[in-house]
Amino acid sequence: MIKDKREVARRGEAAAIPTAWEYAPAPESREIVHFEDRYGLYIGGQFLEPLSNERYTTIDPAREEPLAEIAQAGKADVDRAVKAAREAYAERWSQLRPSERAKYLFRIARILQERSREFAVVESLNGGKPIRESRDVDLPLAAAHFFYYAGWADKLEYAFPNRTPRPIGVAGQIIPWNFPLLMLAWKIAPALAAGNTVVLKPAETTPLSALLFCDVVRQAELPPGVVNIVTGDGRTGAELVSHPDVDKIAFTGSTEVGKAIQRTLAGSGKRLTLELGGKAANIIFDDAPLDQAVEGIINGIYFNQGHVCCAGSRLFVEESIYETVISKLKRRMKTLRVGDPLDKNTDVGAINSKQQLDKIGSLVQSGIDEGAEIYQPPCKLPERGYWFVPTVFTNVAQSYRIAQEEIFGPVLSVLTFRTPDEAIEKANNTPYGLSAGVWTEKGSRILAMAQKLRAGVVWANTYNRFDPASPFGGYKESGFGREGGRHGLEPYVALDGS
Ligand code: NAP
Ligand code: MG
Repeated sequence: MIKDKREVARRGEAAAIPTAWEYAPAPESREIVHFEDRYGLYIGGQFLEPLSNERYTTIDPAREEPLAEIAQAGKADVDRAVKAAREAYAERWSQLRPSERAKYLFRIARILQERSREFAVVESLNGGKPIRESRDVDLPLAAAHFFYYAGWADKLEYAFPNRTPRPIGVAGQIIPWNFPLLMLAWKIAPALAAGNTVVLKPAETTPLSALLFCDVVRQAELPPGVVNIVTGDGRTGAELVSHPDVDKIAFTGSTEVGKAIQRTLAGSGKRLTLELGGKAANIIFDDAPLDQAVEGIINGIYFNQGHVCCAGSRLFVEESIYETVISKLKRRMKTLRVGDPLDKNTDVGAINSKQQLDKIGSLVQSGIDEGAEIYQPPCKLPERGYWFVPTVFTNVAQSYRIAQEEIFGPVLSVLTFRTPDEAIEKANNTPYGLSAGVWTEKGSRILAMAQKLRAGVVWANTYNRFDPASPFGGYKESGFGREGGRHGLEPYVALDGS
């Protein structure tokens, strides 16, 4: 019986899709994208063959088809990249006038805008995310980040009044697979604006937009060695972390790997920022605009297949409106279109990897086993590729794994509360502290809740909104350090005495 349920969890009910509109497919063309058969490592302004001689294949998770051969950088490769970054730092980038650095960043931002359609297709092909999101969210935000930090490059003394901000040197940056290009922008833009050079490692499963970004770097005529990209799996990341000539590590990824990095760096004097996991509470009060709130719940958990560190994965509904919210939510879920990431109609795309699909499947199974009630809308999934039906669990106890652990998939756990204090207590009952949402008509309640929620970001009557001017980051096991805004410059500057 459990096996059957698992099959349902993976594949959804096979019934015909009801409700809503019929849409004719509207696929974005992939003609605009050209992949090389194999890529080298981008070091010192050129693509070099990996000294390690190791490679792996990166795929399209929606079709399980290979896209290109990627280099697996070893110790000697990472060393070459760090040397190139050090030389570029000492001889070129840190010597440039800040207004000149700003010009390069503006150029990168403009080229990203010009080539945004191409990048959006690459992002959807390699990552599985719907083209509507890569086109309307990832790309505009990535370009906006470069524009924003270009503006700061020659105004650092205003960002840190009465201090003398100086660059710190070579930054090693490690990013995950859920927003490959956007995370790259979050890392590279502030580092370069402050006068540092970088060695960045993209995630193993999504290297292609970072490799295409090397072409943007060339087009912008950035001095060689200012940006270096080393591809590979966790071993490459570990080499970068332990390299003695890296001054700072910026890591976005899982709490588990973040902790390991912190242990490695303890006592080394290297700077560190960690942007880790989350298990956010999205809290709906009985005076909230319910239809808007339901859109916020959907956006909170099904955006980017739920592969979002700040996803609203725990929904707290005030008891008096529970039935209404759940029935509205289920009705809305029936209209979600799951399928081809390149189709402009698609709401929920492919799960990024087989490994992640298995992780989601086993956590969902634990929810069923522990006694939660599962709902999945009828949904026909493609035959090939990695897919998971949007899922909601009701009847969830706080102790269940699905209420405690980060699932990083399209799976929502619903709990209830009766008073604001109870909502706060339950919302804060997690090792994480990255984000939260509050839905209510009362401004005073929003402020009171925001003060008591232990979360780096609190959205009010909205969810998953981002802006380069607004700092983002966590408390507790969600990490430390902020990205975005003036705060996002801090990790990349030395101030007098620091
Ligand atoms: P992950 O396994 O921690 O990977 C993150 C990055 O670190 C990848 O590039 C990874 O390489 C690399 N890595 C793996 N082991 C390493 C090691 N020992 N030393 C150095 N680097 C290593 O996380 P993930 O599964 O890819 O990403 C999902 C996680 O990231 C979730 O927990 C999510 O919440 C978190 N996340 C947080 C934020 C935020 O801003 N707070 C944003 C996005 C994601 P491989 O690709 O080879 O694994
Ligand atoms: Mg990983």
